[in-house]
Amino acid sequence: MSKLALATPNAAAATADLFERSFERVAAAARHAKIDPETLLRLSMPKRTVEVSIPLRMDDGTLRLFRGYRVQYDDSRGPFKGGIRFHPQVDAAEVKSLALWMALKCAVVDIPFGGGKGGVEVDPHQLSHAELERLSRAYVRAVADVLGQDRDVPAPDVYTNARTMAWMADEYATIVRRLEPGVITGKPVGRGGSVGRDDATGRGGYYVLKELEALRSWQPGRTTVAVQGFGNAGQHIARLLHADGYRVVAVSDSRTAVWQQAGLDVPQVIAHKEAHRRLPVPQGAKTITNDELLQLDVDVLVPAALEDQLTAANAPGVRAKVVIELANGPTTGAADPILHDKGALVVPDVLANAGGVTVSWFEWLQNRAGSQWTTEEVHERLRACMRTQFHAVHARMTELGAPMRTAAYALALERLDRALCAGGTAADFQRR
Ligand code: NAD
Repeated sequence: MSKLALATPNAAAATADLFERSFERVAAAARHAKIDPETLLRLSMPKRTVEVSIPLRMDDGTLRLFRGYRVQYDDSRGPFKGGIRFHPQVDAAEVKSLALWMALKCAVVDIPFGGGKGGVEVDPHQLSHAELERLSRAYVRAVADVLGQDRDVPAPDVYTNARTMAWMADEYATIVRRLEPGVITGKPVGRGGSVGRDDATGRGGYYVLKELEALRSWQPGRTTVAVQGFGNAGQHIARLLHADGYRVVAVSDSRTAVWQQAGLDVPQVIAHKEAHRRLPVPQGAKTITNDELLQLDVDVLVPAALEDQLTAANAPGVRAKVVIELANGPTTGAADPILHDKGALVVPDVLANAGGVTVSWFEWLQNRAGSQWTTEEVHERLRACMRTQFHAVHARMTELGAPMRTAAYALALERLDRALCAGGTAADFQRR
């Protein structure tokens, strides 16, 4: 690999930092993968990056301009696939990293999609409902040329949801003058969405945890869990674990964290959050900081918010035995070895949160076939996929004696390698 001219990102650009760090970890894992050196070279840059300006007429008549992105990382295994994020911190490096992780994730769960991601630098909480709809539609108009059910298939991510996807799918249909529901997944049920997509990310993480439960002989009632981030991913895993008898002792959102050692009544916390848009502090519970939540003495820690939450600064204080990364990129490269040395098992994002994209694939299959699956079918197929790939990654981890992220990346790189080499020309030259 050192003999090849790797197109490394521009070190001078501070905004590229997250991507540089993300790619470095992939390159390190490549040393454990049986791949052609050209594969890593090909994966060192996205295939296409689209940056757009999105003018938006506000309700008060003023005009604001938002910056949007769509990064298409790799499509050697299938159409680009990845969510659209509406968040004030969205930037080119973040979207590029998320797109790279999607390419790896789809390979880890072995579904026929490549990696992509999109985003708009905006605080959606500052927009009215009508402004949010106009922004969603305007984003699709800006990037429609590169989308399509066989080209690039978006989905929800942070601060976008089924309703956003319905607006976007509708706008796309208006542009191409035909219904093409497979162009976007995560749509509402009844509008081309799949049953079981709403909780798929949390459920996929839950199925992974159930495999660990069997391996480690956990008893749910004696197993404590803390969840950082109480949105789509965090709420559903908390709900499923609570229903299973696990003690969810702490949850947090962007404003606060609540902790109750006896275990929170998760359905009540969800109902309060839905009604009041903030977390309750039930009797017997107390508020703590997000950093305190990450360092609680729990069996399982579930970061389900944003990137770069477990860092070199707080990782030494993490006491959880298992970290289930429902968020994308919650653990920095500097925190990884600290957690590994402490004996904590970090189930990496590319496996732990892959339930979302897996059920997006189910939705896409149903859209293409014009069929509808039952909830039981979705859950059973998701469980089978998560179980199979968890054990594949676990076996590779044991074989390598390396962190689970390294094992997952190595497996993904080998699957990407097969696709890239099958369409490449390197073998022709090697034979001569
Ligand atoms: P969401 O918008 O539904 O929820 C995000 C939650 O995180 C909110 O509760 C918000 O208040 C909280 N949050 C934001 N900043 C925080 C902070 N600094 N500390 C604590 N909490 C904070 O988003 P989501 O869809 O649940 O996505 C969460 C993570 O999961 C993201 O990293 C996303 O990329 C990843 N993910 C989501 C899906 C999916 O299907 N939704 C799939 C794969 C991965």
